Amino acid sequence: MSQPLTTFTEEEEIFRSTVRDFAEQRIAPRVEQMEREAQQPRDLLDEMFALGLMGIEIPEQYGGAGGTFFMSILAIEELARIDPAAAIPVDVQNTLVVNQFLRWGTDDQKERFLPRLAKDTIGSYALSEAGSGSDAFSLKTAAVPDGDNFRLSGQKLWISNAHEAGLFVVFATVDPAAGHKGITAFVVDREMKGLSVGKKEDKLGVRASSTCEVILDDVVVPKQNVLGKVGQGYKLAIETLNEGRIGIGAQMLGLATGALEGAVAYAKEREAFGQKIGEFQAVQHLLAECATDVATVRLHCYNAARRREAGLSYAREGAMTKLVASRVAESVASRCIDVYGGIGVTKECLAEKFLRDAKVAQIYEGTTFMQLNTIAKLVLAEGS
Ligand SMILES: Cc1cc2nc3c(=O)[nH]c(=O)nc-3n(C[C@H](O)[C@H](O)[C@H](O)COP(=O)(O)OP(=O)(O)OC[C@H]3O[C@@H](n4cnc5c(N)ncnc54)[C@H](O)[C@@H]3O)c2cc1C
Repeated sequence: MSQPLTTFTEEEEIFRSTVRDFAEQRIAPRVEQMEREAQQPRDLLDEMFALGLMGIEIPEQYGGAGGTFFMSILAIEELARIDPAAAIPVDVQNTLVVNQFLRWGTDDQKERFLPRLAKDTIGSYALSEAGSGSDAFSLKTAAVPDGDNFRLSGQKLWISNAHEAGLFVVFATVDPAAGHKGITAFVVDREMKGLSVGKKEDKLGVRASSTCEVILDDVVVPKQNVLGKVGQGYKLAIETLNEGRIGIGAQMLGLATGALEGAVAYAKEREAFGQKIGEFQAVQHLLAECATDVATVRLHCYNAARRREAGLSYAREGAMTKLVASRVAESVASRCIDVYGGIGVTKECLAEKFLRDAKVAQIYEGTTFMQLNTIAKLVLAEGS
């Protein structure tokens, strides 16, 4: 195993503090409103585009920031420290959408789509359906060849960013009898006739992030919009999700950090029995345990991201990161509420929001059980 790296280069440090400043100055004052209204204002998303956060790894020749995967991880962490919902567009765009174009896109596709994704177009990743979540490759959305095109019909469910998205990477099957070998990835423009975005889910947490149904009703998609090869969509999906899971780990790392920072500040200010509550050893131990758990997640997350950058395997590390980070985030957020006492379960402070926002990370991009399945498979095949 490689050593977990915990230090940043100067460039990474400058980038991290730029995102931190943006999150503290521009997002923090609007979190309560975004949560209440269950939406992210377009002007805030535009600011993220202007900062280069929606195309971190897109090369400069296509209008992107020319950064690294590790920078995407830092950005997701810093945004989630203030608002885990506000981190989702950046997470999906960078770790699920842009990276597919970078890895599998043709030159023509890169030229057509990357400048849009870097400038003003939000992307969505449409794999899940009502009947296929964990069992993703039993999806039913059909892609029927028709001359120079495919005709796509089906219904996607749970699609993050769909309300705001201009581009969708849609997974469909060209041959249901071929099982996973029929799965193919298509780039579908929101403007294409027959695509519509359905209702927004009313969720427990990450409420400002849209999660919607996407309906494809005989959408004509040119063959030039097949991402990767016909029948290889399952490979794209698996490989992208391996990266995406590190992104979810970063989101939960940021969440746990934000929750803990809030509790530490409160422990230094709130008094009981004539002293600050942070002077009680019980509270100190709670904070110490949370800080240790957060540090563990940070090592998992940065290690997985560095391995990905170094060209080493990272499927196991990505799954471990998501597994540990999503559990720690829920547990840290819950324990931090204890530090606040009664006010912790009210909307007066963000502690209860962090707890609600944590839960979904045990579900999306593969449930906890699916991460354990992946880790077990790799451990049995390769050893511990
Ligand atoms: C807020 C939100 C955002 C999302 N965003 C997206 C998105 O942008 N794009 C997208 O494509 N999808 C998205 N999803 C869908 C998400 O990936 C699925 O919900 C998830 O994969 C679980 O699928 P499911 O809901 O169908 O649950 P199921 O697959 O029905 O699972 C139900 C239970 O059965 C367990 N289970 C199933 N199979 C196994 C097995 N083999 N071994 C052990 N346990 C098993 C699961 O762990 C779970 O506990 C999102 C979901 C949510 C909630």
